[in-house]
Amino acid sequence: MRKINKIVIHCTATPEGRPHDVADITRWHKARGFNTIGYHFLIHIDGTIERGRSIKKPGAHTRNENQDSIGIAYVGGMTKDMSKAKDTRTTAQKDSLIKLMIELIYKYNADMQIFGHKDFANKACPSFNAKLEYANL
Ligand SMILES: [Zn+2]
Repeated sequence: MRKINKIVIHCTATPEGRPHDVADITRWHKARGFNTIGYHFLIHIDGTIERGRSIKKPGAHTRNENQDSIGIAYVGGMTKDMSKAKDTRTTAQKDSLIKLMIELIYKYNADMQIFGHKDFANKACPSFNAKLEYANL
C-alpha cells in the first residue's frame, strides 16, 4: 500500500442541487485524458458515499500532490446559475465527509492532514476552507 499523508477535498464544480455520480465524472475525466475518475470517493447530495478510483492507486486530482493523498469530492460547489463558487454542502454531505475522513485517518495514518484543493492551486475548489474547518479532526 502506498503511504498516505493527506486528504484533499474537492467539489465537482457543478450547480447546487444537481446530482452527479461516479459514472458521470469518470466520463468527464476520461474525456480529459485520465484512465478513470481522478477522485477516490464521491459524496452525493444525499450523503451517499460512492467509491471512485481504487485507493491503492494515486489519484488525479491535485497537481504534484497525488502520490501520497486521497482525493474526495462532494457533488456541487457552484451556484445554481454557475455564476460563482458556493459552499453547497448539505448537512448529509458534511456528516458523510467527516465520517469518511475519520475512517481514513483511523485506517491509514493517524497524522493525516486535511486540505482543500485551493491550498495547492489558485482555484476556488472546494468552495470552503477545508484546512481550517477540519484542522481539529
Ligand atoms: Zn478540486
